[in-house]
Amino acid sequence: MSVLVLGGAGYIGSHAVYQLIDQKRKVVVIDNLETGHREAVHPEATFYQGDIRNIGFLREIFEKESIDSVVHFAANSLVGESMEDPLKYFDNNVHGTQVLLQVMKEHDVKVIVFSSTAATYGEPESVPITEKMRTEPTNTYGETKLTMEKLMKWCEAAHGIRHVSLRYFNVAGARKSGEIGEDHQPETHLIPIILQVALGQREHISIFGNNYNTPDGTCIRDYIHVEDLINAHLLALNYLKQGGKSDVFNLGSSQGFSVKEMIETARNVTNKDIPARTAKRRAGDPSVLIASSEKARNTLGWNPTRTSINEIMKDAWNWHRNNPNGYKRM
Ligand code: UDP
Repeated sequence: MSVLVLGGAGYIGSHAVYQLIDQKRKVVVIDNLETGHREAVHPEATFYQGDIRNIGFLREIFEKESIDSVVHFAANSLVGESMEDPLKYFDNNVHGTQVLLQVMKEHDVKVIVFSSTAATYGEPESVPITEKMRTEPTNTYGETKLTMEKLMKWCEAAHGIRHVSLRYFNVAGARKSGEIGEDHQPETHLIPIILQVALGQREHISIFGNNYNTPDGTCIRDYIHVEDLINAHLLALNYLKQGGKSDVFNLGSSQGFSVKEMIETARNVTNKDIPARTAKRRAGDPSVLIASSEKARNTLGWNPTRTSINEIMKDAWNWHRNNPNGYKRM
């Protein structure tokens, strides 16, 4: 039996495929390659290029392959874009998941691990954020992910499809052995942008706001190593296969670093200057986001081990230094 990974050519999905194959699992990957990279797909995975909204395409794969579980990363994930083009996000993210659940139901596939986000919470009431807190997304991206979670909840009630939703905080770093890493076009995330400055590809990093209510005035985020993050997916798959009930878990390292601290960490790791300039706030940025991941630790037995911010930055730097143009050069 195979695990079907949707979006297995993207940054996080490609790491899941590598780690599933490390565990000797058979993996089938679907990706429309709109934002993913064919080169990021593990050579031992069976790859199909196509869109999950295409029900005929999806049915064909479920008929051809023996799929017993699904890990779902196939979604658009840019907050800014989601505000400008909300219908694109509802179509790809929500409608895509609806089609997927329909085909899972038809083929009696009852287990799904879902890539969700801390953006489902919106501006937190307090930190650390627990799964019990109110979900009030402040952007379309978060709203679509919350809606996808709800779709799965109701499909469990009606069709017995059990799911684990993993709400990610700031995913960072790259596979230690260096084959794959982060390559977004356009790049909007803090760490890759800082490292592009270190590589001389940008003149400076813009710090989006220095007057937040935090010790150094810049936003604080909870950075989690992508390999630790994927370990939680592997545990969630086992949990569901052993009959675990549907649930939602936060994935973060439960520690916060400010934008300035991240720039300083990058200066130490790369030994480069990394000029920084203060810029205006980015719309919709909460000042502090830190996860409580107690629930994932207690229920799934998750134990993130790469929580040192230096190590996260080092692994990201290893990828960016060796692949300054991402997958284009390979
Ligand atoms: N950030 C920044 N400059 C940049 C990109 C990001 O100051 O060029 C800040 C951003 O405002 C946020 C933090 O870095 O406070 C992390 O942003 P990112 O986009 O990486 O992740 P997010 O927290 O939005 O999911």
